[in-house]
Order: sequence, then structure tokens, then C-alpha cells
Amino acid sequence: MAKNKSIPEHSSDPKTNTQNINYNQISSYFGMNVFAGKNAKKYLSSQVIKELEKVARSGEHLSRKMADEIAEGMKKWAMSRGVTHYTHWFHPLRGTTAEKHDAFFEPTGFDSGIEVFSGKSLVQQEPDASSFPNGGMRNTFEARGYSAWDPSSPAFIIEKASGKTLCIPTVFVSYTGQALDYKTPMLRSAKFLQDTATQVCNLFDKKVKHTNISLGIEQEYFVVDYKLYRKRQDLMLAGRTLLGHAPAKGQQLEDHYFGSIPERVFEFMTALEKEALKLGIPLKTRHNEVAPCQYECAPMFETINLAIDHNSLLMDLMESISEKYNLKVLLHEKPFKGVNGSGKHNNWSLITDTGVNLLSPGSTPIENLQFLTFFINTIKAIHDHGSLLRASIGTASNDHRLGANEAPPAIMSVFIGSFLSKILDDFEKEKSNKTKGSADEKTLNIPHIPPILQDNTDRNRTSPFAFTGNKFELRAVGSSDNCSSSMVVLNTIVGNQLKEFLKEVNTLHKSGNSKEKAIQQVLRSYIKKSSKVIFEGNGYSQEWEKEAKKRGLENVKTTPHALTKYLDAKSKKVFIDNGILSDEEIEARTDIRYESYALKLQIEGRVLADMVKTNIIPPAIEFHTRVLENLKLQKDLGIKSSQYTLTLELANKIGYYIQQVQHFTKLMVDERKKANLIESHAEKALAYCENVLPLFDNIRYQADKLERLVDDNLWQIPKYRELLFIK
Ligand code: ADP
Ligand code: MG
Repeated sequence: MAKNKSIPEHSSDPKTNTQNINYNQISSYFGMNVFAGKNAKKYLSSQVIKELEKVARSGEHLSRKMADEIAEGMKKWAMSRGVTHYTHWFHPLRGTTAEKHDAFFEPTGFDSGIEVFSGKSLVQQEPDASSFPNGGMRNTFEARGYSAWDPSSPAFIIEKASGKTLCIPTVFVSYTGQALDYKTPMLRSAKFLQDTATQVCNLFDKKVKHTNISLGIEQEYFVVDYKLYRKRQDLMLAGRTLLGHAPAKGQQLEDHYFGSIPERVFEFMTALEKEALKLGIPLKTRHNEVAPCQYECAPMFETINLAIDHNSLLMDLMESISEKYNLKVLLHEKPFKGVNGSGKHNNWSLITDTGVNLLSPGSTPIENLQFLTFFINTIKAIHDHGSLLRASIGTASNDHRLGANEAPPAIMSVFIGSFLSKILDDFEKEKSNKTKGSADEKTLNIPHIPPILQDNTDRNRTSPFAFTGNKFELRAVGSSDNCSSSMVVLNTIVGNQLKEFLKEVNTLHKSGNSKEKAIQQVLRSYIKKSSKVIFEGNGYSQEWEKEAKKRGLENVKTTPHALTKYLDAKSKKVFIDNGILSDEEIEARTDIRYESYALKLQIEGRVLADMVKTNIIPPAIEFHTRVLENLKLQKDLGIKSSQYTLTLELANKIGYYIQQVQHFTKLMVDERKKANLIESHAEKALAYCENVLPLFDNIRYQADKLERLVDDNLWQIPKYRELLFIK
């Protein structure tokens, strides 16, 4: 049979690094920029690869000899690809990722040198870390922080402009070992949950040696024209529009969701996908979202640590690649008022080394005690620690989604669908239920169209934590956030819950019950205890707010209030007891979150005041003057028609809004100054939240009125209708 000779598409586009790559076949270039798989095999001995895999799985330490061998292999591979520099790549507690580049090259004389990369440079570095947030854990005189390689996340090459850099994923800790990054507690929490889940699995199957946490992150984002973006200080400095009136046509028609993607955006998307795939990010899905110029992309799920690293990398790629296409990706949760915001859906599950998805109900879930165990324990964990999960997703920008009546609410509830609700009900009441959970065929009664398979779990887009067939989906995470904070909490509370479950089962078992009876009994008690967290209705409705209150579920709308949950005894205990975060780390990290909150609002406040002064008032005054001149003219000419009255009304209106917008801006600036004097980050955040932020709305209301009155030709900053509809 003749070989399929697909013609390589050699692109000469300098915007993408496309030389000699057959982009028609993803499998031919997937992961080509990652030191793993085929690339690693070429440069490392099979013994070293085996050991490296073991270290990555078990979390053991690398020997120095091994590290040297790996570093040498990595260097050779990287240099064969034209890489000159390497960097430890980590996730400090503000911003997305941090890098400090070093050259492989070391001079040995005036005109000689060699390329070196030792095991020591691979495994550990000391970035001058005094500028990264540390919450007081690292005194300035001890500014050293360590970055240390995470062998479970492979090194990769970033190609930027004409330079190529080898990036080594690392954790970032203080001199005394405290976590200064997102990754460290994530790794701790993942190990804790994986080990505990394995112990629980062993109740059912002794063959299970290891459990993996799988995570698939759906990423929503907006795309706007780069030139227009550059004309708006608020977008550039705060990531969202602080002013601007909704256009006559927004998302009411929902015609964007299934509409076709504008060509320019599509070009950007495919370039992004190519770069992501080269880096081993398994992007699979792309589509429009509900709002105009809003999109989503999603990779195939991966091990949690890798999924989170890849998401951070993806966000970096989005920013840099979009600019090459004269576009700007907005990752902010709410760039536009009155238009749906963006989130990051975290699809989370547990899968054993024997290949069983522990959250897969199977065809008769009621008989699948292992599924019920993991399913019910997860629900119980959310019931007991929902407020902590809420705190974990709290940021100044995400508050715009959670606090508003828009997906998903700040009330942490679990959606499981009517089918599984009934199963839990019957299980609790010890009724038998032989309902088949497998997908049923449903006839559509449309000619030529075959019957479709109907999923056994209904969909509910309004729930923050929904069971979707064989995984839970945390939908409340913000689109610009690093998923670690929420995943640390989820892993920790579920791990902790499973630990308690094991204890209770063992006690009952020891007192004479069969293992199966003991498990059933404990699970039944959990269903009773946690049923109030299950909600199947519309999470956006006012009724749910009332109902949730009756049920005693918290509804904390703002971050400064939500964050207090990290500091209460119950939350601290669950972190400290399980070795995820120390007391000092919890305090420091929470302090950083308060500080970040206040800083963000401080920036927004400054930008807003500046825009009022330089973008709103000048055209308003100019137009006001014109109207007044016109009035004077009418008066001089003795015109006394209704036209005169209307013009007078207009002049008065403009004058009024100019006065009002200045009045509220002054109030806001005064409040901001007061807040800035507060030393405690927590109190400052609260002052910003309660005294400054509400004034933003007042200012905006007045300014947006002016936008609608003033001559369009005078209005300098791009309006919503220009931003939202890309040509
Ligand atoms: P949607 O939620 O939009 O219907 P999908 O069901 O296709 O989308 O999946 C969304 C994400 O969930 C994808 O990243 C997918 O890989 C991931 N996913 C699917 N199964 C699992 C699983 N068992 N564990 C974790 N993530 C999963
Ligand atoms: Mg989804």
C-alpha cells in the first residue's frame, strides 16, 4: 500500500515558529518542545528515565548523580534546538509566572568558553526573591528564596522572538522552606489526597497502588482589537473597562454562541493551538462563548499538577500570541459591564493506576459502593468546608461574577442531577434501585436523524460545583486565576473527609460489622448530614438566595469577607493536620491575598479618577460649551420655540452630570486616601471594598450618561460597540 504522503505545510509566517513542521498532522509535532517521551529517550539512558518516572510519581528526592545526567541530556537536547538560555519557571503569589534567564555559556578565557548546565543548576536556584510577595515570611535581610525542580512537570522550550529558552518548572520556597508560590501546597495537597484515596480504594480492591487526580481546565476569555485596547487606560492597567455604556445590541440574541469566529480571531486561535500543542498542552476544543467576542478553549484532562502548569503556560501564550495578530486577550473575569464574565471550569476526578475513574457511576451506581464512597465523601467535604472553597476563589476581579446574579453564585452548593439524587435517596432509605444509569437511547422523531444517546446526568449551568457524568466541575474559579488555590482546598477537604471516613468505617468494622455494612452505614449518615448542600434548581434566582439562607448556607459576596474563612480554627486545622500549609503559611498567604485585593482596587481607583479627568470631563465640557453657545445664539436671535427649551434641558443635563461625576470622583479619591492610611492589609481591603468600590458605580453611572449625550466625534475612548464587535 502506498504511504500516505501528506504535503507538509511549510509556513513562512515569521509570526509563528513554523519551519519544517507538518501542521496538517498534530501527532507529528505534539510535545516537540518538551523534554519528555521521545525527546528524553534520545538523550537519557533507560535507567535514568525509569528512575525519573519513579521520582515523579513518588515524590522522592533525586540523587545528585541522576540530576547531573539529566541536566546534561537536557542541555544537549535544548542546544540541538537552538536554545541558549535556561530559567527556573515558577508561580509566585501574584502575577502568572516568573522567570530569570541564565546562559548555558560560560567564558573560559578572553575568546573561549563552553556551554554548561549542571545537575545543581537544574535542581535548585536562588532567585533574588525580595520583590515577590511573601506575606512577611521572608525578612529583607534574608531575601534568599529557593526554586527547586518539580520532576513531575517536564522542562520545555519557549520560543519568543528570535530567542529560545529552556524553562524548568520549579517550586519556590523561602530560605526556611515555607511556600512562597502556588505550586508547593498544590503538590502537598495532591499527594495527601492521592495517598488517602488509595487507602480508601484498598477497602474495595487491594491491587490499587496509586491514585491520580485528573484535571481538565476550560478557559474562557475575551478578545479585543489591540489598537482599541491601547486607547483605554482602564483595559491596559486594570484589565477591565471601568466606564462605558452597554451597546444597543449586546448578547440578548445569544447569536454569538454558535456564530462563526471572525477570521482574525480564528487565525490567532490556530496559532495559539499550534504553539500550545508543541508544548504538550493537549488543546482539544475551541468555541465561541455567550458574550460577543468571548471564546473558550479546553485541553484534554491531565494529572492535576501538569494541568495547572499548562493552564498558566497557556495564559502566557494567549497574551503574547494575540498581540502578533493585533488582538488583545482579556483574561479578566469581567471586562465589560452588563456582559457575561469569564471563568475557568475545573473538571476534577480521581483515577486509579488500575484505570478506574472513581467518580464514574457505572451502569448501576447504587451497587457501585466504591463510586458512592467517593461521590458522597466529596459532597460531604463541600458541605463541611464550602465557605473555604468560596474563599479560595475570591479575588477582586472574580467578585464581579460571584457577587452578581451571574454564573455561578457565591453560595457553594452541589448539583448532582435528578438521576443521582434519586439514587442517593434510595440508598439512604435502603431501597433497592435497579435503574440503569447508562445512557439511554432517545428517539428524536426527525426523519434521517438516528436516536441520540441521552446523558444520565442533566446539565445545570448555574451551579458552582456540578457533577457532570464522571467528574465534578468547579465552575466558580475566575478566568485570570491560578487554579492552585481552589484545587489545594478541594484536594485537602476531600482528602481530610476520606481520612475521617476511613476512621469511622474501621471503628464500625472493629465493633463487629462487616466491612460492607460499615461502609454503607457511614455513607448513609453522610447523606443525611450533608443533604442541605445539594441544590438542583436555578442558582441565579432570588429564591435560591432565600432558600440557601434558610438552609444555613453562607452567601459571602465579597473577597475581604470570604478570606476570613482561611483564618478560622476549623480551616486552619484541616490544612495544618494534613501537612498542607503551616499556621505561618496560612497567615502569610491570606495576608498577601488581602494586600492584592487592596492593590487592585487602588489601581482601579487611580485609573478611574484619571480617566474622568482626562477622558470624560474634557469632551463633556467642550460639548457643553457648544450647546451653551447655541443657546446664546438662539437667545440673541430671539428664538422662543420648543427647540430653545430642549437645548436648555440638554445644557442643564450635561452640566448636571459633569458636576455629579466630579462630585463622586472627589468622594472616591477622599475615601481612597483614607483607606491608604490603614496599615493592616485585611482592614485596608475591607475599606476599599466597602467605602471605595461602591463609589466606582456612582462615577460610572454619571460618566456613562455623558457618553450617551456628548457628540460621538468628541468621544476619544473606544466605546463598547467598537470593542465588542471585532471586524
Ligand atoms: P463540557 O463541560 O463543556 O461539556 P467536556 O465534558 O467535553 O466539556 O469536558 C470538559 C473538560 O473536562 C475537558 O478538559 C475534559 O478533558 C475534562 N474531563 C473529561 N473527563 C474527565 C475526568 N474524568 N477527569 C477530569 N477531567 C475530565
Ligand atoms: Mg464544562
